[in-house]
Amino acid sequence: MRKYQLYIDGQFVDSASGETFQSINPATEQPVAEVARANREDAKRAIAAARRAFDEGPWSRTTPADRSKILLQIAEALGARAAELAALETEDSGGTIRKTMGDLTLGAMQLMTIAELGASFPYVEDLPDQMIPGPAKNNVYREPFGVCGQIIPWNFPLVMAIWKLGPALATGNTIVLKPAPDSPCTAMELAKILAEIDLPKGVVNIIPGFGPDCGEELATNPMVDKVAFTGSTAVGRRIMQLAGGTVKKVTLELGGKSPAILCDDADLDMASAGVLFGVFFHQGQACESGTRLFVSERIHDEFVERLVKRTKTLRVGDPSAMESDLGPLIAERQSERVEGYIQSGQEEGAKIVIGGGRPGNLPKGYYVEPTIFVDVRNEMKIAQEEIFGPVLCVLKYKDVDDAVRMANDTIYGLAGSVWSKDNEKALAIARRIRAGTIWINEHHMLSAATPFGGYKQSGIGRELGMHGLSEYLQIKHVYTDQVGDLAQKFWYQSLFGQGL
Ligand code: NAP
Ligand code: MG
Repeated sequence: MRKYQLYIDGQFVDSASGETFQSINPATEQPVAEVARANREDAKRAIAAARRAFDEGPWSRTTPADRSKILLQIAEALGARAAELAALETEDSGGTIRKTMGDLTLGAMQLMTIAELGASFPYVEDLPDQMIPGPAKNNVYREPFGVCGQIIPWNFPLVMAIWKLGPALATGNTIVLKPAPDSPCTAMELAKILAEIDLPKGVVNIIPGFGPDCGEELATNPMVDKVAFTGSTAVGRRIMQLAGGTVKKVTLELGGKSPAILCDDADLDMASAGVLFGVFFHQGQACESGTRLFVSERIHDEFVERLVKRTKTLRVGDPSAMESDLGPLIAERQSERVEGYIQSGQEEGAKIVIGGGRPGNLPKGYYVEPTIFVDVRNEMKIAQEEIFGPVLCVLKYKDVDDAVRMANDTIYGLAGSVWSKDNEKALAIARRIRAGTIWINEHHMLSAATPFGGYKQSGIGRELGMHGLSEYLQIKHVYTDQVGDLAQKFWYQSLFGQGL
């Protein structure tokens, strides 16, 4: 079995307690790796290393160009090992091999984009000379926060690590990253890559551990300047409370219940495939999944028929097989949770038109069939709560106002999609949905060059793009006096009334 240690201060070390945990392959239910379990003490060691690297190390003297080179080195190393790491991530997380291969390729490309953005970011701004109070010159400098605690979920293990490390490194911060214990392997392989390149020790520390001890240390330790978290809204609330104790800067990427609004004039063939991609990609375990489909009463039955027909063609099975379209969910607790929601939907009167159970031919592994509910009302639990599994809720609307009202009637606001041949009409609807990303005739299209994040309880702040980089930078204003002469300073008379 593979073994992983913690990566602290440029060294691979055991946890202080000597404890380990096993990461499980969700398709076979067998262990994939034995991993050192970071507890609070390990988190403190890692934070101290990141603090030293920021305050004393050579890192603070690097230029944006130097840091971009480091990101490109990581991208190159990932690219060279893409096939091997994709296979490992499939074993560790249950993502289909087509999904993990895509993630590896995209992840490396995203690092290149972040390197470019980091190198060209406007770190210094000259503001117009100011006369009141003044005269003065004013400059704004963007400076790294310092030590960033970063906590990521299990669904996109390597991509989430890249989204966190890339922008923080590009902008000159130091990092303690906590991968999710359900899928820590590729983050630990990334640590091996970091150990081989020109990255000073202590700049990145990677400590797989559990939320309540290792994670909470990152959110509370006074030596951490910022916490960046991706995960559920429930844990996000807790992180925000904990970070409040030392007024840490916080960015949160949380859950979603994204609407897909189908207009009557959509290309129904494209939209039916696109809606299913929106909800069933990675077994529905993506925060931006389009889990609520709004269809007008006029075309509802015809469109549902198309969805069912296409869903029948999806192959659920061994995620390492090229032909599998859906693999297992991450863990038994997750497949049980999804089954619980499927039961609750039926109890509340929604009707299953396809799926709804475990695939009969797969006795091992945490599989759930792709499932579609009709007769869903927006107030039902399955339409309001994040299921994080392959479950689509179809809701009927009378007119577009009705669709927009229901789409917005949720605590979440991460993403959404609009399907129509009329781009202008679709854009008008997109502007009315209260969410951070809206796709027109698409879903899931995230890029390192564009911002991603939530309205409402889907989060705070943005990741990726220039907006995402800004979240890792403080704003410092420097005022340089241009008066030069004490007697001319406007405050002189007000304090020293007697004059010179
Ligand atoms: P989760 O339970 O919130 O866990 C996310 C991470 O936080 C894990 O590393 C987890 O470690 C850690 N954690 C748990 N409790 C903690 C605590 N008290 N203090 C500090 N850290 C803690 O979420 P999940 O079940 O892993 O992932 C699914 C959720 O993430 C979904 O709701 C999904 O929408 C959301 N998500 C959002 C985005 C986005 O970009 N908006 C992306 C992906 C996923 P443990 O595993 O040890 O608990
Ligand atoms: Mg969890």
